[in-house]
Amino acid sequence: MSHDFLAELGIAEQTSGVYAGGWIAEPGGAVVDSIDPSTGDTIAAVRTGSADDYERVAATATEAFAGWRAETAPARGELIRLLGERLRAKKRALGALVSLEMGKIRAEGEGEVQEMIDICDFAVGLSRQLYGLSLHSERPGHRMYEQWHPLGPIGVITAFNFPVAVWAWNAAIAGVCGDPVIWKPSLKTPLCAIAVQRIADEVFAEAGHAGVSGLIMGEDATVGETMVADPRLPLISATGSCRMGRHVGQRVAARMGRSLLELGGNNALVVLDDADLDLAVRAIVFGAVGTTGQRCTTTRRLLVQKGVAAELTERLQKAYAQVRIGNPLDAETLMGPLIDGDAVDGMMAALETAAKQGGEVLCGGKRVDRPGFFVEPTIVRASADMPIVAEETFAPILYVIEVADVEVAIAANNGVAQGLSSAIFTNDLRCSERWLSAAGSDCGIANVNIGTSGAEIGGAFGGEKDTGGGREAGSDSWKAYMRRQTCTVNWSGQLPLAQGIKFE
Ligand code: NAD
Repeated sequence: MSHDFLAELGIAEQTSGVYAGGWIAEPGGAVVDSIDPSTGDTIAAVRTGSADDYERVAATATEAFAGWRAETAPARGELIRLLGERLRAKKRALGALVSLEMGKIRAEGEGEVQEMIDICDFAVGLSRQLYGLSLHSERPGHRMYEQWHPLGPIGVITAFNFPVAVWAWNAAIAGVCGDPVIWKPSLKTPLCAIAVQRIADEVFAEAGHAGVSGLIMGEDATVGETMVADPRLPLISATGSCRMGRHVGQRVAARMGRSLLELGGNNALVVLDDADLDLAVRAIVFGAVGTTGQRCTTTRRLLVQKGVAAELTERLQKAYAQVRIGNPLDAETLMGPLIDGDAVDGMMAALETAAKQGGEVLCGGKRVDRPGFFVEPTIVRASADMPIVAEETFAPILYVIEVADVEVAIAANNGVAQGLSSAIFTNDLRCSERWLSAAGSDCGIANVNIGTSGAEIGGAFGGEKDTGGGREAGSDSWKAYMRRQTCTVNWSGQLPLAQGIKFE
């Protein structure tokens, strides 16, 4: 391990992937390798936890809850402010680690850490704004109001593609709301999780609240299933594939728990004849090629109106030819590798299927001949009724589909099972408003003249249908992390019943 940022993050020698108020030196699960997707080489080996280790983490979080909820929300916010400060100091190093282990380019790695910082800032302000409503009672001499209490320890399951930010979206908001967090990260990005946990430990342990931030790495079938079924966790916040979310959501519902599901997307970008094509080309290339097509908000379907289809496709092919593929840590690189060999195989299989269903590869379509898991960014001419277009292939494949008008575009946008992000490029006010109307895009995110990816943390983030319906980050997403209580105080000296009922 020769990268200086590993030492800066204090993880050069760390092997444990379990933290329960302190690192467990020898957890009882299997050893997993952290792999550099640019080379296929092993960066480090990490020891994961067993179901027994999970028990220690859960017991620690349960105990920590009592002390944490007793702090005032602004006092909790102060620790989240300090967390944001530590992240600022480690932004370069942590961003580089995200690039190394996950494969996104350095600017995106640092951007992901910036998202962590931004959500900490948001949460600090929120810690003084966890408002409840005051209501007018129908009974004289009565006061009614709502208040929000901490919910309890939260289970946070994260995907490999945002290996640090999604923890922060949950941990910062849950933190000010008064909830400890137990994090089960993806086993594809164990070092990122250890590095973040070490930063959290600096803040929470120093303040005497070490148990507020727990970490359990482990197999899905043992540790994951135990966590999802644990009645001590009133909320499971799970980010990942629709397949995982469908399973986890049902398991949590079976024990009357709540789940917050952030699942797969199949995001379309519409370009109408009157659009500014300069803007559209830049948004499409960033949306489809950025993070090597491994964002939940990646642009996967381009729905282009007939009048500009030929010109736009040609311009995209030119832009794709200039995408510099390489090691994500090199400043010149625009597209790094896919996460692993399975992802490369999955992309090649999808392209084969697309060809069988009538798709035509316009550019790219091949593996890149070098070590690691590199592929070419790919454009496929397709039609909306090809079954493969309805699937989320987690790779840089852009399906280009011609549409007659805005109505056909909206129908195609909505014609898939997922409902995360969507965008339209147009300068026509009517088309823009049509897109944003109740009968327009059915996605959780609907943009005009900006692309499908790169959301800001101030808005509520998430999607409908198979994307799971959860909302994280800004706006009033915090409500998912608290329990609502409706309170009525009678100061009248009488006991009038609601609805005018007499019960003498
Ligand atoms: P994945 O579904 O394979 O894994 C996600 C997480 O779920 C991992 O931590 C995994 O270990 C865990 N998991 C799987 N089965 C489990 C079980 N039975 N019990 C408990 N945990 C279990 O997804 P991935 O390949 O890591 O990530 C890519 C997927 O995530 C894509 O579909 C992408 O769209 C989606 N994603 C969605 C969002 C969003 O906010 N909507 C954000 C990022 C990624």
